[in-house]
Amino acid sequence: MWHSLRLFTLFFSVVALTSSSSAASRRSKSGEPALKVQPAFWWSGMHDASLQLLLHAPEVGRSEVTLDAHGVSIDSIVRPTNTNYLLLYLQTKHAPAQTFSIHLRKAGKVKTLPYELRQRDQKTRAQGFDASDVVYLLMPDRFVNGDPSNDVVKGLKEQTASQEPNARHGGDLAGMTKALDYLNDLGVTTVWPTPLQVNDMPSTSYHGYAITDYYEIDPRFGGNEAYVRFIDEAHKRGMKVIQDMVFNHCGSENFLFRDRPDDDWFNCGSRYVQTSYRISAVTDIHGSEADKTNARDGWFVEVMPDLNQRNPHVWKYLTQNSIWWTEYAGIDGIRQDTYPYADRQAMARWNQALLAEYPHFNIVGETWLNHNVGVSQWQKGSKLAGQDNDSELPTVMDFPLMGLLNSALDEETNDWDKGLARIYEYISQDAVYADPTHLLTFLSNHDTDRFARVPIQASVTTRYRQALTLLLTLRGIPQLYVGDELAMAANKGGGDGLLRANFPGGFSGDTINALSGEGLTPLMRETHDFTRRLLQWRRGNDAISRGTLRHYAINHGTYVYSRQAEGRTVTVIMNGTNQEVELPLGRYAEVLPESVAREVITDRTVSLGDTLRLAPRDIFILDFQ
Ligand code: CA
Repeated sequence: MWHSLRLFTLFFSVVALTSSSSAASRRSKSGEPALKVQPAFWWSGMHDASLQLLLHAPEVGRSEVTLDAHGVSIDSIVRPTNTNYLLLYLQTKHAPAQTFSIHLRKAGKVKTLPYELRQRDQKTRAQGFDASDVVYLLMPDRFVNGDPSNDVVKGLKEQTASQEPNARHGGDLAGMTKALDYLNDLGVTTVWPTPLQVNDMPSTSYHGYAITDYYEIDPRFGGNEAYVRFIDEAHKRGMKVIQDMVFNHCGSENFLFRDRPDDDWFNCGSRYVQTSYRISAVTDIHGSEADKTNARDGWFVEVMPDLNQRNPHVWKYLTQNSIWWTEYAGIDGIRQDTYPYADRQAMARWNQALLAEYPHFNIVGETWLNHNVGVSQWQKGSKLAGQDNDSELPTVMDFPLMGLLNSALDEETNDWDKGLARIYEYISQDAVYADPTHLLTFLSNHDTDRFARVPIQASVTTRYRQALTLLLTLRGIPQLYVGDELAMAANKGGGDGLLRANFPGGFSGDTINALSGEGLTPLMRETHDFTRRLLQWRRGNDAISRGTLRHYAINHGTYVYSRQAEGRTVTVIMNGTNQEVELPLGRYAEVLPESVAREVITDRTVSLGDTLRLAPRDIFILDFQ
């Protein structure tokens, strides 16, 4: 182990300067090693006027620096242990948009670097997302292949594409752009693609969570310009885009790790120590320091070095990267991966920096804990976490509700502790959350069993109908996982690659094409139409977006709850049993304002008497306008 590690170290100290993918080794036309500058450009008039430039090239750290600029000054110059880096901290408070010159003087030679401060444009952006939205999570490599010519790109380490579960399949931004009309028609408002930044890893690069350059969209997805085009096209349709960011770790082929500024840029002295994944330790009042430290500083896996966000230079690098994408590409929100594994205080400052720059922004953290006490402590304003330990994170993920939606609907509801009674009980504990409206709610995602674990489960249509109704009408910001609307089934037993199966119609040779509607099975069509009906109805519905939630203890195996905003009441009545129910309506008067309502699923008018007859597993969504 030691032997191979040392060999590896020796190997990469050479390779880092010669590998074709290492930017430091790219030669300019004059034959000089290319200088990598990140960010490549910036803007004038930013809320935070301090700018970090990371310069990477052989021995650039030995340069003296002067500027030729209007209103830009050098705050400080940091020379990391590794002389291939120079960190330049500039002050841009009074700087107009311009291209200025940075002179690097070394051994009597001067190299001049033009640097652009752009004008911020006034396009709608950083809109945030909230409960009026429905988020659609997709994995770009598995969604739609709009450009087969980029499936394999010369010079990158993974040189094959195939339909094997863990191989690159070839989906890309051109395909995502092509599918926007489908998504818009379905009724989703916001797209969350898993990370698009380059993963120049030798294998399993398709998932995107091993970023090797934070500033580059993977050329196999189409590169930076294709990303900007995709977002512009989404905005044209009134849709939004969330960028998936990964600050806890990067890919081991990232130049920041291979030729790292110093060992403090990565946790555990840049040496692999496995995290226990026991992240409940971080907020546990009885938790040992050993457990807290290991959960936070241990590495997710060996090929994903764990970034040290406590290092102020790392923090600034990552924070600027978020601002850069927001400003450059016009994203509307951020999803932050493996949130509790990163340093809590550093990430709190990151949230503050983003929200100071973009007051309407929303950020959701992947807070994978299976209990509400644990999840709630990661949300901004948590009383349990306490004022001096605030995470500042606006939105957290409702993993406990996901677990319940996946199990409770397989049970027959009683009035106490089975089926929908468990969902009622969970929702009744919402006081634990500082802001229950800012919970991302979902049936599944790319890391979990699909809602239908096996095909036979997908054929029980009432199960999906009830789950989707709950998802779209309870509190929170609902998120669908690609293919939920087509009753796609998969479970983790088959490996992650199968959870991330291709979207039907996204790849050549597909006999089923969901984008055009050709070849859908009756179950797919029924599921799609049901999903579309609810999503289209939900759009612009104030009662659901902003309304209060009032619910009733289970009675006759039936769950009743209501969303109310000024002038509109929506009341959901759901039979959790396999029997017909004759439900007395007397106790529900406060959520039944009229004797007549529009029922959303069947699109018919319903007259309400003393009782309501519900078929087994029936749902009434009553819209009182
Ligand atoms: Ca492609």
